[in-house]
Amino acid sequence: MADEQKECIFCQIVEGKIPAIKIYEDERSLAFADINPLADGHTLVIPKTHTETLWEITPGDLAAVHQACQKVARGMKEALKAPGITVIQLNGAAANQVVMHYHVHLVPRDRGKDKLKVLEWEAKPGNMRTIEKLAKKITEAI
Ligand SMILES: [Zn+2]
Repeated sequence: MADEQKECIFCQIVEGKIPAIKIYEDERSLAFADINPLADGHTLVIPKTHTETLWEITPGDLAAVHQACQKVARGMKEALKAPGITVIQLNGAAANQVVMHYHVHLVPRDRGKDKLKVLEWEAKPGNMRTIEKLAKKITEAI
């Protein structure tokens, strides 16, 4: 096992070396309660295999994690009567990813009541020439 995995807090949760409040688990994915919740019920969903970001995760793990997200989200909707769920997934230190093991945040929301400032921004029209130019550049790189 690589050193980065030995020190990875989420790998240690998967291995049971660090306790976690488990919510859901299958062969490839694990969901557990975030102990620094943005809102009640805030849950993290991770692949059991160490991988850092969306750039590196295998298609199989990606599918498994997001299928687990859907199961957990349905459970949240039912159990918490959450009228909304914000899904956050950060890639790289530049995007404020702190634990370098791929993870998805599921945050139950009731906008207007929870007063969270997560992913709320003022929509302003962009420069269409720039938007088109950058879209073309990304498409060409795929
Ligand atoms: Zn890890």
